[in-house]
Amino acid sequence: MEVGIPCKKEIMNCPICKHGQTLPGKTSITLSDPAGVTIVFKNVPALVCDNCGEEYVDEATTGELLRQAKAAAAAGIQVEVRSYAAA
Ligand SMILES: [Zn+2]
Repeated sequence: MEVGIPCKKEIMNCPICKHGQTLPGKTSITLSDPAGVTIVFKNVPALVCDNCGEEYVDEATTGELLRQAKAAAAAGIQVEVRSYAAA
């Protein structure tokens, strides 16, 4: 499983565009692995840049997404779209 998103915790100035401010919001995260398992999480809490739209998901949330995706893969799920819910 790989997550192609940076991990940051606090509200901050956006490191991508250097101008925007990151504000709490929701995003969708897609996790996939080389075996072809793809899990899409909707309604994931994230910080979203109000200028360029870059999204930042914190490490705890990223870890939980990976844990849930691995559990789904272990259960034999190939493709799934689900709403994120913290355990
Ligand atoms: Zn930005």
